Amino acid sequence: MSDDDESPWIDMDGNIKEKSPESKNKSPTSYSKPNTPEIDKLKSLMVSSPSTNSSISSISSISKNTDESFYDKLQEYYELKQEYDQKLRDAHRLWNNAKPPMSLEKKQEKYQDFIMKRKCINCGNGPGGTIFSHVGVGQSRKIIAMCGCEERCNLNIEIYMGQSAYLPEYLDYYTQQVEELKKELTEYKLDLLFNLRDEEIVLGEFRTIKEQLTENLDQLVQYKQAFDMQNENIELDIQGIPFRIFNDLGEEIKANEDGEYIVNRKKYIQVMQKYLNNLISEFKTKTNEYKKTPSQAKLKENFDFLQDNVLKIQKSIRDEKYHTIYMDTIENNAKKGFKKQKIMDTFVFNPSKYSLDNQIVTFGRKITEFKR
Ligand SMILES: [Zn+2]
Repeated sequence: MSDDDESPWIDMDGNIKEKSPESKNKSPTSYSKPNTPEIDKLKSLMVSSPSTNSSISSISSISKNTDESFYDKLQEYYELKQEYDQKLRDAHRLWNNAKPPMSLEKKQEKYQDFIMKRKCINCGNGPGGTIFSHVGVGQSRKIIAMCGCEERCNLNIEIYMGQSAYLPEYLDYYTQQVEELKKELTEYKLDLLFNLRDEEIVLGEFRTIKEQLTENLDQLVQYKQAFDMQNENIELDIQGIPFRIFNDLGEEIKANEDGEYIVNRKKYIQVMQKYLNNLISEFKTKTNEYKKTPSQAKLKENFDFLQDNVLKIQKSIRDEKYHTIYMDTIENNAKKGFKKQKIMDTFVFNPSKYSLDNQIVTFGRKITEFKR
């Protein structure tokens, strides 16, 4: 699949194109069903999944959904824990730097003493300290904090960390299911056509498979939507530069039910590219003017134009074209020539259309208690 071919790979009738963006380079032989998060959970978690699209901050006009309150609270938890742990670290430093040096026995004694008298980070009472803990696995994995003192303060934090799912795995699985069910359907159709089997039985089977097909197709579409939401959609800020560019170029964007201006990534790149072409021709005109009557002021103006407009738009296009770009270095051990000089390493440029983070959704993440 080429980068430009971004037409839907599944149509309304459930016909799937040969190569979906997620299933390429994989042998479609065996698929096991991944641990399925319930689909309604999946839908609700989309808003709470982390947005790691830092690439667009350059224009700072596109935003994606982030569950800010979750992260704020999570950070508050870790800050509290950090502050609590720091006190012990500070004490360790004190013992280690003591003059004259402290014996190991003495340090152990001091440590025991510290732990015995440890104060709660929230109320400052002691002994007992604060209980910070990481409990449970899978969907019940949570972090907690509470007062450990005899007379407990109000501190009560319980945060469920949720579970993550890798979306392409689900897309592969359901794509495969749908394909197989369709194949079965076709076989029954032929049986019916050539009177190979009892009509009533065939029709019964037919209906069952058809139902299964509908269910699987629903699932597939849901996961595909989740995938697109995280990877193919861009929300434009009404105050931002891209939104203005869309308007200037007569590209109408309608707000969705939630009042968000969402555009497809491909469309975004297209429009921005168009705008970039305009900028470049403007730059050429400016350069020609400068050539005719050179002046320092004009030169500076041109340079600023290049830097403030052209390069910024170029970057925003590149950032959306590839969500992740990284370099691999392959060391070259061969030596060349009489002097056995080292050959330069090979650098491999790896642009990737989808960042790994955006292909993962986390569900079941919630704060059930947060009292201090
Ligand atoms: Zn306390």
